[in-house]
Amino acid sequence: MAQVRRGLGILGGTFDPPHIGHLAAAIEVRSALHLERVLLMVANDPWQKTGTRPLSKASDRFAMVSAAVQGFDGLEASGLEIDRGGVTYTIDTLQVLRAASPDQHLFLIMGSDAATNLHTWHRYEELQDLATLVIVDRDGDSDAEPPSGWSAVRVPIPRLDISSSELRDRARSGRPLSPFLEVPVIDEIRSRGLYGSDDS
Ligand code: ATP
Ligand code: MG
Repeated sequence: MAQVRRGLGILGGTFDPPHIGHLAAAIEVRSALHLERVLLMVANDPWQKTGTRPLSKASDRFAMVSAAVQGFDGLEASGLEIDRGGVTYTIDTLQVLRAASPDQHLFLIMGSDAATNLHTWHRYEELQDLATLVIVDRDGDSDAEPPSGWSAVRVPIPRLDISSSELRDRARSGRPLSPFLEVPVIDEIRSRGLYGSDDS
């Protein structure tokens, strides 16, 4: 019995690089909530990370996300925040998506670590008026709570204790990136010489 798919999921991130944890979150939420599409929304300038470590260029991160979603139904890389330019605030993104499709329900997907920090986001109180918050558990953060008074949908996913930080370390030290990254993502990393991988 085919179920009509409605709703648009947005999984925002730095995606430096995009890994199976991101894909699992997007695929599992899309399936559980019968969403039509999930956008992997590549932050142009993730202000909470800027200055704390070197970030790959937005164009490199977008190329990796485009490579990561190849072949996955209903997953798309979005360059909306990159095209907008400047510091990235999710509130701006949700407002644009809402204006573009007023009748489409928006689902803002995040791991439990991000949910715990949501109260530090720019104009975070307004996000709940625009989208339903969807939280997926992430290793080590299983009892994360959204800001008080918020409602959230929780979607259980298999815990994949993997992060982009760990994968950057792996790339730098020449340890295996597979199976944590899709092969086309590994190809992008190598051809763009990211994470010191060109000399490994
Ligand atoms: P970094 O180590 O650089 O912070 P990351 O792996 O946390 O990278 P982000 O781009 O910061 O990746 O995360 C984007 C979104 O994906 C966040 O909402 C985060 O919680 C979620 N996410 C990242 N990794 C996982 C994972 N392994 N399982 C579930 N959700 C994840
Ligand atoms: Mg992170």
